[in-house]
Amino acid sequence: MSFLPFPKYKFQKLSDITADFLVEKGVELLMLDLDNTVAPYGAETPPEHTLCWAESIRAAGIGLYIISNSRKEGRVKTFAQALGVPYILRAKKPSPRKPREAMLALDVKPENAALAGDQIYTDVLSAKLAGVTPILIRPIKLSNPLLALRYVLEAPFRRPRPRADV
Ligand SMILES: [Mg+2]
Repeated sequence: MSFLPFPKYKFQKLSDITADFLVEKGVELLMLDLDNTVAPYGAETPPEHTLCWAESIRAAGIGLYIISNSRKEGRVKTFAQALGVPYILRAKKPSPRKPREAMLALDVKPENAALAGDQIYTDVLSAKLAGVTPILIRPIKLSNPLLALRYVLEAPFRRPRPRADV
């Protein structure tokens, strides 16, 4: 397996990841990036459809865990509590340290864990380094020029994977 940050799966939005899909892939723990994956930057509470989605995942016996690089504890905590999931902030992705801590805490092996996020060089790379399944979500909103530029720089890894990396 290479450490090039190619996602294993891609979805347009978080709620497109179904419990059936995760069960089929043997995922017991789905770690979630927060900003632009669960909600746009600046949003203070998760929308109703996201709460329903989280409930459907949990009902299938799959754990959820927010792993955010954000430093704003209040906001991350509000989201985590609304969704009823544990959280880690200041995760410093692409470091795999916090995803590994979450797996240890819940006694889940890397092959039974996935990390879903909108960024290649933090979320997908962190998942690769932690040995878990990387799932790429299309960013909810590219609300400023820097986010848009980063999205362009990620382009090589958003295209279908070259065969050599399979
Ligand atoms: Mg993000």
